[in-house]
Amino acid sequence: LSEKLSGILDKLTGRGALSEEDVNAAMREVRRALLEADVALEVVRSFVDRTRTRAIGAAVIKSVKPGQMVVKIVHDSLVETLGRESQAIDLNAPAPVAIMLVGLQGAGKTTTAAKIAKRLAERDRRKVLMASLDVKRPAAQEQLAILGRQVGVDTLPIIPGQDPVEIARRAEAAARLQGYDVVLLDTAGRTHVDEPLMEEMAQIRDAAHPHEVLLVADALTGQDAVNLAKSFNERVGLTGIVLTRMDGDGRGGAALSMRAVTGKPIKLLGVGEKMDAVEDFHPSRLADRILGMGDIVSLVEKAAQTIDAQQAARMAEKMRKGVFDLNDLYEQLAQVEKMGGMGGILGMLPGVAKMKDQLASANLDDKVIKRQRAVISSMTMQERRNPDILKASRKKRIAAGAGVTVEAVNRLLKQHRQMADMMKMMGGPNAKRGMMGKLG
Ligand code: GDP
Ligand code: MG
Repeated sequence: LSEKLSGILDKLTGRGALSEEDVNAAMREVRRALLEADVALEVVRSFVDRTRTRAIGAAVIKSVKPGQMVVKIVHDSLVETLGRESQAIDLNAPAPVAIMLVGLQGAGKTTTAAKIAKRLAERDRRKVLMASLDVKRPAAQEQLAILGRQVGVDTLPIIPGQDPVEIARRAEAAARLQGYDVVLLDTAGRTHVDEPLMEEMAQIRDAAHPHEVLLVADALTGQDAVNLAKSFNERVGLTGIVLTRMDGDGRGGAALSMRAVTGKPIKLLGVGEKMDAVEDFHPSRLADRILGMGDIVSLVEKAAQTIDAQQAARMAEKMRKGVFDLNDLYEQLAQVEKMGGMGGILGMLPGVAKMKDQLASANLDDKVIKRQRAVISSMTMQERRNPDILKASRKKRIAAGAGVTVEAVNRLLKQHRQMADMMKMMGGPNAKRGMMGKLG
């Protein structure tokens, strides 16, 4: 899809502002991308309409194609809808702070309860008690107890025959008595949203007064996401959403659907079955994933900020000719630094993962880049153009000038040789796939 889209985007011609035609063409593809990512239809519709209005007439940043510009605007709009910042679980209430997890059967509530408990205990140094209110599924309470032992968090002792509300009350009393900071309430789910489930959740909420009510939902939830989130939000009142199975193939469109209909923040992502497989939510990353065009977005972003298209073209030309002296390296390093490091740039481009590893092993991190620029600054113009004349005495002088060791100078020269070779490769027949093909 991404390729198909870039094809369409490439065809859009450059003008000062985005025309209705440009925007409509790109938005058709965006709509398809969102539906493919399992965003609910009604959410896609309103999102696309809203973003279309915003995009038409927007200025196109120099050196960026109009279609790419639309994608950037769509991305920003997605991030805005998803919520700008990662929001942590709120523990800002008198202890014991109750956190209630709700959701359908198999969504990952019990697993998520243990993951959150582990996090709060280990990272935030809270004394956590977990309680399973799932009296429907046989052995559900034992499942939580086992996970609790695994992560080293206490669980409320099981008393057979109690109903969920009684267990919730007992958990609160035990937590108060024994000085727990947090009580995690793991509830029962059902295969689909129904009235008995909602009624049970509402009763638990009234008994436990949870400070957080988190809806746990599978990232693969499709068109049902709207109804699911709406029902829980209206009947129980949500404070946040946890999306599980983000380690799977799902693009996570449910996040957009649920966020759009409830306005509640996505707080955490489950990324595996292991107890530490939980991550903070980063709107921009998820927007990339939903859109499936993260590469274009980051590239446009960074290009818009820093790249001088003419300079890039000049550099590409030099590379094609295989001329790449230390002056060029210097210029290149300066640009790389502005764009967030070599790893940052290469990570965005297709098909260069291997090269990225190579560079990582060559130690091209940002501190190194600064040092390398210092080394080149200590060279004369002649030396920069013709590194071959750099013998021991010159190297010593340069090292002293840059405040580094002679080995560091040697390393730079070696890297320059490697880069010159690599650049030649990128400027060669495969240039269109490479960095300069994209930017030039
Ligand atoms: P519950 O019915 O909502 O309590 O769901 P469970 O916590 O029992 O989880 C159901 C299954 O999903 C279990 O096998 C979990 O290991 C698995 N699971 C939960 N969260 C994740 C996740 O983020 N990624 C993956 N791959 N599996 C998960
Ligand atoms: Mg469960």
